[in-house]
Amino acid sequence: MPTLDSRGSRRIMAAIPSLAARGAPMPDYDKPLPELNQFTKSYWEAAKRHQLAIAKCSACGRLNHPPKPVCRFCQSDKLAPQVVSGKGTIYSYTVTHYPYHPGFVKNGPYPVVLVELEEDPRVRIVSNLVDYKPEQLKVGEPVEVVFDDVTPEVTLPKFRPRAAAAARGER
Ligand SMILES: [Zn+2]
Repeated sequence: MPTLDSRGSRRIMAAIPSLAARGAPMPDYDKPLPELNQFTKSYWEAAKRHQLAIAKCSACGRLNHPPKPVCRFCQSDKLAPQVVSGKGTIYSYTVTHYPYHPGFVKNGPYPVVLVELEEDPRVRIVSNLVDYKPEQLKVGEPVEVVFDDVTPEVTLPKFRPRAAAAARGER
């Protein structure tokens, strides 16, 4: 079967102009996407700018994640996004072998990590670990956020071992 050159790809996109025009998920991304609401919007919009932004309470100064209508510590609704470093450590993890969605069939097994943020260990983010060696999938491993632009509209924050970046001389 012939492979598509760039002209071929353009022809396919031209055949589905409504999809391209709406900025809908690209047809080749077949996993579920987050749904934005008034509380989670700032988190996903920051991710699109390649920033990790956590809701910070201006009444008590604490970070809240996942985003909620009111602060989980003092119930104030004075929450605003605060850009954080994206550095943290693996607090816990699991390895998913069974695909719970058809889009993940070709990915398994893959790790799901709970990352404790450097700014506040009470803030833990569920995400994926990427660009890692098997021995780096462990509790306490220092990690940092990376951004995966999965569609033109949605970027997913994921994490990789900080050692991976250092090994490539990125810092
Ligand atoms: Zn508060």
